[in-house]
Amino acid sequence: MSFAELGLAEELVRAVRDLGYEVPTPIQRQAIPAVLAGGDLLAGAQTGTGKTAGFTLPILHRLATNTHHAPGSKPVIRALILTPTRELAAQVEESVRNYGKYLKLKSMIMFGGVGINPQIDQLRRGVDIVVATPGRLLDHLQQKTIDLSHVEILVLDEADRMLDMGFIRDIRRVLAVLPRVRQNLLFSATFSDEIKQLADDLLNSPAMIEV
Ligand code: AMP
Repeated sequence: MSFAELGLAEELVRAVRDLGYEVPTPIQRQAIPAVLAGGDLLAGAQTGTGKTAGFTLPILHRLATNTHHAPGSKPVIRALILTPTRELAAQVEESVRNYGKYLKLKSMIMFGGVGINPQIDQLRRGVDIVVATPGRLLDHLQQKTIDLSHVEILVLDEADRMLDMGFIRDIRRVLAVLPRVRQNLLFSATFSDEIKQLADDLLNSPAMIEV
């Protein structure tokens, strides 16, 4: 089984090959077709399993293959990836850039503890994919410096850690402003009752994978 056989665009297969990945990991073999199919996903996965590529590759594929704004026009935020920490946000955004290097999608990272103005400038120039920690994203929402009305795909990465860190209220505030119709992906290493409740509220007939 190769990345091309999973149905990914040639630009993505080439980027993955440049990184030296030879075969997809078990979570990638399961997650990539599930996300490409457009439905929701509930995935039990630890870090180190290749889960980041498991969601970023098919998200990039979906955004690249169904554009609906004119070429050259300013991008709008179509994918939102929430992570518990700035370190994880930075890693995920780096993956998005590496895997998407042959595509024309713009991504940005958004976390607190740094100035908000450069983030506002970046948002104004237009981005397709935002990788954010919940607190700073909420600041942008409150200041009305971000428009999430075009989000097609939402990812909660390491959802258990986000709940442990007390982000549930922030997450629910973000969910409240997203378009009703969208694809939702939830990744978690553990499944407490609280995670199950969130998954229940968030996901519609999700594909379920566990590695
Ligand atoms: P993750 O679990 O997403 O944090 O990924 C763990 C590490 O595995 C990262 O350093 C990736 O670059 C690497 N990786 C992801 N997918 C593959 C693959 N199919 N083959 C080899 N390495 C990979």
